[in-house]
Amino acid sequence: MTTQNWDAIIIGGSAAGLSAAQALGRSLRRTLVIDSGQPRNRFAPQMHNVLGHDGRSPADLTTLGRAEAVRYGVESREGVVASVRDAGATVELALESGEALRARGIVLATGISDELPEIEGLVAHWGTRVAHCPYCHGWELRGERIGVIATSPMSLHQLQLVRQLSDRVVAFTNGLGALDRETERRLRARGIELVPQAVASVLSDEANGGRLTGVRTVDGREVALDAIFTAATPRPRVEAVASLALTPAAGPWGEVIEVDPAGRTCHARVWAAGNVVAPAAAVPQAMAAGATAGAALNYALVEEDFDLAVAKNGGAHGSE
Ligand SMILES: Cc1cc2nc3c(=O)[nH]c(=O)nc-3n(C[C@H](O)[C@H](O)[C@H](O)COP(=O)(O)OP(=O)(O)OC[C@H]3O[C@@H](n4cnc5c(N)ncnc54)[C@H](O)[C@@H]3O)c2cc1C
Repeated sequence: MTTQNWDAIIIGGSAAGLSAAQALGRSLRRTLVIDSGQPRNRFAPQMHNVLGHDGRSPADLTTLGRAEAVRYGVESREGVVASVRDAGATVELALESGEALRARGIVLATGISDELPEIEGLVAHWGTRVAHCPYCHGWELRGERIGVIATSPMSLHQLQLVRQLSDRVVAFTNGLGALDRETERRLRARGIELVPQAVASVLSDEANGGRLTGVRTVDGREVALDAIFTAATPRPRVEAVASLALTPAAGPWGEVIEVDPAGRTCHARVWAAGNVVAPAAAVPQAMAAGATAGAALNYALVEEDFDLAVAKNGGAHGSE
């Protein structure tokens, strides 16, 4: 089996990864993107709040981004990186296909998986009538009958944001824990209906294209709705880098890999960007983080190239 050598390998070819790839490609770095084709927002037909791309489909964005990166010499392949190990002056990657690759630096841009609340019928509407981000999909649902299914005390924030978009909001507060009097007063003052019972199922009208029609609570009450906001539990896709024992950091969305502002991990050859380290990042933030990490990796290689030249030439100009 041959081991190919690259300057940079990007694991994950979506908003963050392709932005990193573009910065590296434009810096004349031999760059490879490996992507398994499952961007987090693939369930949504359109993206919003992404300047210059409003209404574009997630798949179109990655197709465009890949074409741009390829124009600068980046190679892009479908595949799954199974593991990454430290090999001294490089890191070595093993693909699920059995192929082995080597790079001077990598960017982990593998995103997260969204673990949805276990509510019957909910998953069928994820990305269309069940949303999580008011900035991404709130405008499209403005003024409708919206249910907010709280999954943790942090859902209060989401609930308040949704009320800005509709005055017909029902909050299923079970996941918030016990509401203190002041919070309850504030929510009611804004006309939010509070339902303390947990939601058992999301109801759909199968005769009408499976349209979402409401929810049923555990005590059998049916509440008519047009759309739902809820929060998923983010699961960073970090299995491939497990053997590197990267330093973890606690965040509001759970544990992630610790990175500096440029995306560098505790490993000198490993950067990470996008949702994998910032689960709340939307597409523009993921793009910015990817571009930053790509530039930071390039700069580290620039420094290393000077170090290697000095070691080889002892500072004798033009003696190569
Ligand atoms: C339903 C939904 C709708 C959304 N809508 C919007 C919106 O309208 N506007 C907005 O700004 N944001 C939106 N978001 C957020 C958006 O999805 C994320 O901000 C964005 O996808 C993060 O980009 P990323 O590159 O970090 O990760 P991702 O886009 O998730 O990409 C990660 C990539 O890495 C690949 N990968 C993972 N593991 C491996 C591996 N081991 N080997 C190779 N490849 C691997 C995956 O297949 C995937 O292609 C939405 C999110 C959801 C869930």
